[in-house]
Amino acid sequence: MAKRRVNPNVVKLNRNYDTTQLATCCGVHKNTVLNWRTAGLEPIDSSKPILFHGSVVREFLKQRNAKRKQPCGPGKLYCFSCREPRRPALGFVEYVLVTQKGGNLKAFCETCETVMHRKIRRADLEAKMPGVEVQFADRQLRLIGTLLPP
Ligand SMILES: [Zn+2]
Repeated sequence: MAKRRVNPNVVKLNRNYDTTQLATCCGVHKNTVLNWRTAGLEPIDSSKPILFHGSVVREFLKQRNAKRKQPCGPGKLYCFSCREPRRPALGFVEYVLVTQKGGNLKAFCETCETVMHRKIRRADLEAKMPGVEVQFADRQLRLIGTLLPP
């Protein structure tokens, strides 16, 4: 299962934290902080108790989050429930135009049926959503649609 991402900004830049304080501040278990050390988070020095400087922690978390970013591949949207990119259920997405050039895709997660969103430029639609049925939900189009005979 994917681990929760910690917001680096909860760490104060000019503060020192011991392991317990850092865990509390970030809302994680102490063991997570120990894992961070193994993963390269440097303490101020080797004296005990081990202290971490806020600015170092923040930089570490930022880099860690960046590494974990999962860009959505073609035909996928990020599902916040599954915490990974998923295909739309039934290969069907709705595209709501926000501007002339871009808008938001909306679809249901194939796995858990959570609503997923993805910002996308209209010009990129075919390249990024190959083999997916896109229904345009532009307000204007809808209005025009109602004027057409059935
Ligand atoms: Zn899902």
